[in-house]
Amino acid sequence: MDPDSSSTKINFDYFSEKRIFEILNKMTSIAENLQGAGNKGGGCGCRVLSAIFVNKRFLNYGYNSLKSNPFQVKYGKNEQSIYFHAETNAIKRAIDIIGYDNFIRSKITLFIVRVKKTPNSPNFIWGLSKPCKGCLRAIIDMKVDNVIYSLDQDFSNKKDYNIMVNMNNF
Ligand SMILES: [Zn+2]
Repeated sequence: MDPDSSSTKINFDYFSEKRIFEILNKMTSIAENLQGAGNKGGGCGCRVLSAIFVNKRFLNYGYNSLKSNPFQVKYGKNEQSIYFHAETNAIKRAIDIIGYDNFIRSKITLFIVRVKKTPNSPNFIWGLSKPCKGCLRAIIDMKVDNVIYSLDQDFSNKKDYNIMVNMNNF
């Protein structure tokens, strides 16, 4: 089943649209200022930030990083993918903070934002931050309930997002 087929904004009232934009916009300003390893984005200038909310309350962020970790090795999209993605980084950090059992049992929402510059947009705009296959496996295994991610601003010309709901039911 394609997780996107369960996406809907209409039936998602766990966070209001206003609250979602508040969170994503705050994350955007942080992502724009991310420096250092893992945030060069292969020359595209992309930066990705993710955030874990536990029962609607912010817990922690996650970043792309040039660190390897057994958790990332398990959930890389392929064998070469040994460095933390923002999503796996956020999930691992959250589990370290509240403990695996707590994490699995709590209502978890993962927010993801990608910012980028393009020849047409010298200022940062949103890019698609849909989780890769590896991160999706971590999301499902760790029973993350909802995933909210930025969409490509190139196509919509305005900021928009997508939601994967009830991932926990997979
Ligand atoms: Zn990933």
